[in-house]
Amino acid sequence: MTTTQTPDLKMVAETAPAEAVNTMPMETPELIRRLVTDENICVLTFDRPDSAANIFDKAALMELSDHINYVMCNSNIKGLVLTSAKKSIFIAGADLTQLSKARTSDELRDMIELGQVVFNRLATLNIPTVAAIHGACVGGGYEVTLACDYRIASPDKVTKIGLPETQLGIIPAWGGSTRLPRLIGLPKALDVILGGKTLAAKPALKCGLVDDLVPREYLVEKACQLILKRGMKLRARKTKLAHKLTTLGPVVNMITKKVSKQVFAKTRGHYPAIPKALEVVTQGLSKSLDDSLALERDAILELGTTEACKNLIRIFFLQERAKKLTGVPADSAPEAKATPVKRVTVVGAGVMGGGIAQWSSARGLGVILRDINHEALAKGLAGIAKVYDQAVKRHAMTKLEARDGMDRISASPVDVPLHSVDVIIEAAVEKMDLKKKLFAHLDSLAGRETILASNTSALSITEIATATQHPERVIGIHFFNPVHRMQLVEVVVGKQTSPEVVRRSVKFVQQIGKLPVVVKDAPGFLVNRILMPYLIEAGHLFENGARVEDVDECMLEFGMPMGPLRLIDEVGVDVSHHVASDLASKFRDRMHCPEVLSKMMADELFGKKNGKGFYLHNKKGKEPTVNPRIDKYTSGTACAKLTREELRTRMVLLMINEAARCLEGGIVEEAADVDFGMIMGTGFAPFLGGPLRFADSVGIPHIVDEMKRLADEELRFTPCNLLQTLAGTGQKFYKS
Ligand code: NAD
Repeated sequence: MTTTQTPDLKMVAETAPAEAVNTMPMETPELIRRLVTDENICVLTFDRPDSAANIFDKAALMELSDHINYVMCNSNIKGLVLTSAKKSIFIAGADLTQLSKARTSDELRDMIELGQVVFNRLATLNIPTVAAIHGACVGGGYEVTLACDYRIASPDKVTKIGLPETQLGIIPAWGGSTRLPRLIGLPKALDVILGGKTLAAKPALKCGLVDDLVPREYLVEKACQLILKRGMKLRARKTKLAHKLTTLGPVVNMITKKVSKQVFAKTRGHYPAIPKALEVVTQGLSKSLDDSLALERDAILELGTTEACKNLIRIFFLQERAKKLTGVPADSAPEAKATPVKRVTVVGAGVMGGGIAQWSSARGLGVILRDINHEALAKGLAGIAKVYDQAVKRHAMTKLEARDGMDRISASPVDVPLHSVDVIIEAAVEKMDLKKKLFAHLDSLAGRETILASNTSALSITEIATATQHPERVIGIHFFNPVHRMQLVEVVVGKQTSPEVVRRSVKFVQQIGKLPVVVKDAPGFLVNRILMPYLIEAGHLFENGARVEDVDECMLEFGMPMGPLRLIDEVGVDVSHHVASDLASKFRDRMHCPEVLSKMMADELFGKKNGKGFYLHNKKGKEPTVNPRIDKYTSGTACAKLTREELRTRMVLLMINEAARCLEGGIVEEAADVDFGMIMGTGFAPFLGGPLRFADSVGIPHIVDEMKRLADEELRFTPCNLLQTLAGTGQKFYKS
């Protein structure tokens, strides 16, 4: 559609009386449909053609502005309702592609000001306005509703409301940082904005993000009734609260001090958007609306240029890419069958099998949960019920949905017919002999089209497949622990796995709402392969005299969510030992399982699972404390005097080196896959963009020099060929 430039619009907004504004003729494609009811209420339905989502790009903002013009010009219109025609999305926020493509700060400023001006025009209409929300209403999508007088939402599961901007390294700048604290008070607004939170409908109502919950089918009707019954009183309620808040100056100062301390402790200064949001929200409260909006705009102009922001937005795009991935080159496999997966069998009801069964059943799939052990089955089902209970408590689902999910699982201690099952996921114990026997058996039970997948953390998919008559249908579908929290799934392609099975497996992972990364079948696949040298190094540093506190703290300072020794405790000292020894046996030139792990196991220090490891984990709800007796497991002093920076350098360099080796060995296609896998699978400092992006930003020649210096004494630091070549030719992992 033809768009007017921002300055023209501002002029309209600031100077022209309603009667003087001409409605611009609408051109196709329409992003927003307009309907005027018999009672003269104007209903605007957001419905972007050929898309499951509504977003705010420049065109949508301009179109909304056109509709506001129309309303202003028609004095018979009694009220305005905003709604959406999409199944699961109200408005998903600003168009990040457009925002991130803004090449100059002037372009970014124009986009921010356009949103502010249009939403201000909506907020200052002299008729009542109601947002009727069904589906995701986030970021700019929620900010437009904040410019309305009243918000009602459907209680459905797909309805999610909030302001996630700080997670992208920016702040709500289309009025969200200004209007939300005036609406719900400072503490709650800070909780939502600084936490980048989106809430389900019920908690959103409790928090005040919306005013009422109404079944989806009555949303618009109810919105119209509210306008007819309460008219401008819908707005008066808001003014009263705003007045209250402006009188709370000393309280604002007190909250600011307290929250600012908490923010620093949590972010260690790595996420500039969070302290900036705190500053804008609190300072904005004592200013006029326009001045507060100016603070929002200036803040986003400043934040938009930071590396943290660019990296966080890149991760968002990588997640979107994973949702659309096919897993194979366009011409290598026929389109995956249109029929989605309906039935899954999970073999093994332990930690992982239970998690996979719960997740799949919650996504509507029928699940057969099979285990040879009655007790394990009962324990598995109890674990699944607990995850469902927690989801109900968090309002992520209703009691009925949880019960239906549970009902979709049938547990079986004996073989059952598997002909009609679409995917079988094996999650039995990590032993090659056992898995081969199991796969030979499953191969004989399964239908011809059934995918045979293993959740193995490290065993060769190609070898497992040799036990079957149809190796082309064997694949790795590797979930991470805990399944209900970790979004990443590695789809591991064996030597004989067919492209069609890869494509269908990727589609299955997407169908259940996880994010796939396709990796080649090789020791440790992608994530564990890069993580283990880092954990192994942490063990070496400790056994050679470095303090637990220093090893862990220096990596927290780097931006990891948890220190490596604490992570070993969480995973289990025995499991870490098993995976580390396994990988070390495959990469003898550079990996050697630290002895401290076997010594700890001999003394029954298994980590969190039995309360004792590098830390003591006894007190419920309390942070674990360093095990006072842990020093007895050190065997040298060579690393005792290393500074935290030196400790960190060693651990990070080994991760970068292994990440580069994965790319070099074709484990994944591109650098972005490595970074995506590490961020989603291990929480690798997201603001740094992943190990390879980080290497680019530090400078690969510098990394190679550092590695060579360390390799003079310890060969495991020898930089891989790819790093040396890139350093030698002045290239980077990423082109831009
Ligand atoms: P677990 O020990 O908790 O559970 C294994 C279950 O398999 C047990 O209940 C056992 O009774 C059952 N089992 C053994 N033999 C069986 C058979 N022949 N038929 C049916 N059931 C059988 O193990 P887990 O931690 O859930 O790990 C399962 C798999 O997932 C392993 O391959 C592991 O490497 C992998 N994995 C584990 C994690 C993790 O963090 N635990 C993460 C990713 C992948």
